[in-house]
Amino acid sequence: RSQSLEVYAARPAVTADGARVELAANIGSAAEAGAAVLQGADGVGLFRTEFLFMNAQAMPGEEEQFRAYQEAARIMEGRPVIIRTMDIGGDKELPYLQLPKEANPFLGYRAIRVGLVREDLLRTQLRAVLRASAFGKVKIMFPMISGLQEWRQARGILTEVQAELRQESLPFDENMEVGIMVEIPSTAVLAGLFASEVDFFSIGTNDLVQYTVAADRMNEYVAHLYDYFHPAVLQLIRTVIEASHAADKWTGMCGSMAGDPLAAPLLLGLGLDEWSMEAGCLSRMKETLAGLDRRECRELAKRILLLDTPKAVRQALRDFHNAKL
Ligand code: PEP
Ligand code: MG
Repeated sequence: RSQSLEVYAARPAVTADGARVELAANIGSAAEAGAAVLQGADGVGLFRTEFLFMNAQAMPGEEEQFRAYQEAARIMEGRPVIIRTMDIGGDKELPYLQLPKEANPFLGYRAIRVGLVREDLLRTQLRAVLRASAFGKVKIMFPMISGLQEWRQARGILTEVQAELRQESLPFDENMEVGIMVEIPSTAVLAGLFASEVDFFSIGTNDLVQYTVAADRMNEYVAHLYDYFHPAVLQLIRTVIEASHAADKWTGMCGSMAGDPLAAPLLLGLGLDEWSMEAGCLSRMKETLAGLDRRECRELAKRILLLDTPKAVRQALRDFHNAKL
């Protein structure tokens, strides 16, 4: 069976009713972009830049970051590359950056919260990303946004950095899209307010689930509660997709739910625009999508949104899947 999967690597993702689906890859380094292309990714939906920082002895400067982002853009040959600003803190430590010891690191000083305090680090990274945007279709995404103020502050810093580069006659893409990750419930709930200001959303289910059901994503004692098929999570996902479409924007997903074939009919039915996953999941997902009809999936999604437990949702998805075989 895995042999027949190989044929999908060279093909775009198309549903049974002929709709093209945008499938992207998550990468942690420019080198991984090569594997993404080999697996037939339409782009990079999430470049986790923190690995660039975690694998270094000292904070990588603008040039070093620029080379990494430019390399990813070059390898992707004009396909979109969404670069997420560093998501350190939480469980990701940087030895050379003295982060405070916290009782609840996942509820603490993390990601954009660090960037807005250590503006110097954020500005350096934004300069590097902007400069790389002259070499491909680069987009920027801010992680862990929890409210409009935070987004506006980050966007404001980006606007200043853009002006700086213009002043220095350094080329960058003036039309670069700027979006946010939706991984905190407050932001999903307010997606309608964000939609007129951001260019896109990317739903990070790995964190969105842990914050919605208050279950640490790494804690085995509450692992049974941690489930992206929880009805509350599904309602948040629907809210975000609908809000983005009402404002003519698009929504992607870069959490692990996007790579799960069981979730595919549901996400297709909800109208998800871009799916980003580990490169190794792409072929299987293309095979799954090839068997799905959008109208059927929209009906399925409507029914599933009425279910009241993760278990019921999983069962409905399994029944749907088995009926297709
Ligand atoms: C997520 O939270 O779903 C996500 C994609 O980000 P990370 O896994 O890097 O926290
Ligand atoms: Mg996350």
